[in-house]
Amino acid sequence: MKAIVFEQHGGCEVLKYREVPRPQAGPNDVVIKVKASACNFNDIWARRGLPGMKILLPHISGSDAAGIVVEAGSEVRNVKVGDEVVVHCGISCRQCYYCTRGEEYFCPEFKIWGFQTGPLDGAHGEYCKVPAVNTLPKPPNLSFEEAATIPLVLVTVWRMLVSRAHIQAGDFVLVWGAAGGLGVMAIQIAKLFNARAIAVASADDKLELCHKLGAEFLLHRKKHDIFQEVRKITDGRRADIVFEHTGAETWPISMQCLKWGGTIVTCGATSGFDAHLDIRLLWNKQQNYLGSHLGNKGELIDAMRFVESGHIKPVVGQVIELKNVGKAQDLMESGAIAGKIAIIPPAA
Ligand code: NDP
Repeated sequence: MKAIVFEQHGGCEVLKYREVPRPQAGPNDVVIKVKASACNFNDIWARRGLPGMKILLPHISGSDAAGIVVEAGSEVRNVKVGDEVVVHCGISCRQCYYCTRGEEYFCPEFKIWGFQTGPLDGAHGEYCKVPAVNTLPKPPNLSFEEAATIPLVLVTVWRMLVSRAHIQAGDFVLVWGAAGGLGVMAIQIAKLFNARAIAVASADDKLELCHKLGAEFLLHRKKHDIFQEVRKITDGRRADIVFEHTGAETWPISMQCLKWGGTIVTCGATSGFDAHLDIRLLWNKQQNYLGSHLGNKGELIDAMRFVESGHIKPVVGQVIELKNVGKAQDLMESGAIAGKIAIIPPAA
């Protein structure tokens, strides 16, 4: 089968479109014919290489897939050949203390499929293999391209806002990168809970998209003073929740924008890992700084109900052929895309 493979870290030039063996299902696995996959920022981290994290080479990225089951292992009960599925990318042992508490992201064996799981390759090929327990039915109201762009960002944002930050009706939620993969989910989940999203993005067309998705307030991060605008919008009270993933560059502003007793929830650091923290704010203002990482399959199932009901919609900014994954990563790295990029294999 064809796949996108890299054998060394570097720029997009290390990504090679080439022939690799088709995966075979073990007793508890399924093999999926990939009809579409998606681009996530972890594809870029893996390709660049991250200090302290070993990526097994050669590596095939891709943490989201939608497709059809073509092979099911002898022990598989939850899914069968011919089923249309999407993939939950959190791989864990399903047997340890944490897994049995529904805290799979704390499992000593926890890995994000397609990011940390070599030799279990990711979705950027014509076929992929995953443990059967990691599949969910594809929402019938979505195309394969749409469905492939949903699970990773949806489960991450659901966990951040619902499970961790306990979003409530009326909350002002400051959303950085609001037209990005996580951001478009954050706006829609805020709306679902009758909270009030303050969307931040760096282009007018991106802000227009945020408005269509339900953001009540739109801030252009290159034109507006974000802190002053948030103060105005919230009548001086500041945001109840700051939705962070942008990291060192935005963190000081996020802290400024947060109300006393408010919550910053973060899952990433696109602009850098070392952020300054004045810990006096932590106790004086009794603020909450919460980390969040992916989510469990139950959280994804809960959130998927709102995709099936049409309350949360996929936002496919562009569809790109598998052989051009490098171009897709380029677009993502440069912030040129609003929403998600779907990847389609040949003759999918
Ligand atoms: P996208 O590239 O789709 O969107 C990120 C957005 O962030 C961009 O659209 C850009 O918007 C904005 N941005 C980038 N740099 C800056 C900056 N310096 N200041 C302000 N805004 C900035 O990525 P995702 O939404 O998919 O992911 C975002 C981050 O979250 C990544 O670092 C990713 O690795 C991490 N992540 C972590 C997960 C976890 O479980 N821990 C899961 C998913 C993602 P604009 O320029 O318009 O403001």
